[in-house]
Amino acid sequence: MSGEFESVPDEILIGGCWKRGTGPAGEVIDPGTGAVLQVMTQATADDVDTAVALGAAAVADPAWRDLLPHQRARYLHRIADAIERSAERLALLQSYNTGKTLAETRGLVASAAGTFRYFAAVLETADEDLTTQRGNYLTMSVREPIGVVGAIAPWNSPVASDAQKIAPALAAGNAVVLKPAEWTPLVSLALARIIDEAGLPSGLLSVLPGRGSVVGDAIVNHPGIGKVTFTGGTRTGRMVAHAAAEKLMPVSLELGGKSPTIVLADADVEQAVSGIMYGIFSSTGQSCIAGSRLFVDRRIYGDFLARLVEKTARLRVGPGREPGTQVAPMVHAEHRDSVARYVDLARAEGGRILCGGGIPDDDRLRDGAYYLPTVIDGLTNDSRTCQEEIFGPVLVALPFDGEDDLLAQANDSVFGLAAGIWTADYRRAWRLARRLQAGTVWINTYKQFSISTPFGGVKESGLGVEKGRAGIAAYSRQKSIYLGLDDQPNPWAD
Ligand code: NAD
Repeated sequence: MSGEFESVPDEILIGGCWKRGTGPAGEVIDPGTGAVLQVMTQATADDVDTAVALGAAAVADPAWRDLLPHQRARYLHRIADAIERSAERLALLQSYNTGKTLAETRGLVASAAGTFRYFAAVLETADEDLTTQRGNYLTMSVREPIGVVGAIAPWNSPVASDAQKIAPALAAGNAVVLKPAEWTPLVSLALARIIDEAGLPSGLLSVLPGRGSVVGDAIVNHPGIGKVTFTGGTRTGRMVAHAAAEKLMPVSLELGGKSPTIVLADADVEQAVSGIMYGIFSSTGQSCIAGSRLFVDRRIYGDFLARLVEKTARLRVGPGREPGTQVAPMVHAEHRDSVARYVDLARAEGGRILCGGGIPDDDRLRDGAYYLPTVIDGLTNDSRTCQEEIFGPVLVALPFDGEDDLLAQANDSVFGLAAGIWTADYRRAWRLARRLQAGTVWINTYKQFSISTPFGGVKESGLGVEKGRAGIAAYSRQKSIYLGLDDQPNPWAD
């Protein structure tokens, strides 16, 4: 196995100052072994007050406020360079803190650097509008920063989800107060140090680890926070939306999913099987877009499932830092136990466990938060197993008969984050893609991302989009300016 764990200093970033948190200390666990990696102090609601006040001052400081877009973009490029220089250290830290494979965390770090570069480019190339003239005045629509933005992140892909919030918010001229998830503060703090050392003006970034009900709640309800960007579960997202409604504050919500992946009878079986396995079992299923409901045309259902189960049973489950591991531990034993309870529920609902369905029988993995990749069938789409987000390596398979039956089942979900279609018939794929209720549809591929393509959910999967040119607009306010061209006084006053 490669790379020893290197602890991060027990300090949080409050408006440009590194300090020990004054909140309670929390243990950070290596989910691969259950060992305590380090103990970190957390932030308090008072720290949120300080961070917001210093953030507001930093946004108003002419040294930041008056920067031209290409000058602000330089900071983002510098941050991207610094992330790339520290890439291996960040990837290793993320692997220790989340359990993920190094191959995956390296990809997430590269994507974080790419996100800063992309938003630097968007910033430099964004146009503002001179709207059509309707009188003796010029009319313009310009964009201005919101002020201090609150960013609340989940534990599944910290470095990438942090960058997805920090980069566009800074690009649009804001300050950011970020709260990482309780289980995974280390990478966010390491990223904050990199950003700080890259020379970002003091006060523009705070990173405040702590309890959601304390620090998260204080951020959302703070009168000085002008927008919240939240990624996490639908239940928490709904609470954030309620608080935002009280304040009449804009909010972006990236929430949960129960995404359907669909195999039509003419699909390339090997391609579909590998794509479906990657879609659900990579990241050990802890991915909002995991393709967790599989719909297969009844005419090929038996053969297709047999091949899928045969390959799934051969997946290599092991430590994230061991070369060759495909399915790493889950983020925390508590979360693994919640996944195990869902598989028990599936059994109670009458589901057949075709493979997996328990923890690995391997002494080496005994203390880690491992769970075997699991395929279940024999349930109907209205069962709880098919309707609730499990957020683990658990795939439920269902047959369908014809397009109408397929669409009725696939769209029968409170979620609408993503969907996948495997077929050789592009006309049919297009038709289905347009009728699926999902923010993203993949055709003959799955779980691929492009920072230049907007991402967001519909229904209970979210509100608003991240990424793409729209991603930066979400962190600004539109202002209209009228520039009068009359030489004479307004005759109305005479
Ligand atoms: P979670 O909702 O439990 O927590 C998310 C964040 O919210 C954490 O930082 C938590 O501390 C904070 N929080 C909790 N209570 C809060 C409160 N009252 N006020 C403010 N903040 C509060 O989610 P999780 O378990 O960390 O992450 C898993 C969930 O995230 C899954 O549902 C997954 O689908 C979703 N997710 C969605 C996307 C997406 O882009 N759509 C991406 C990744 C994860």
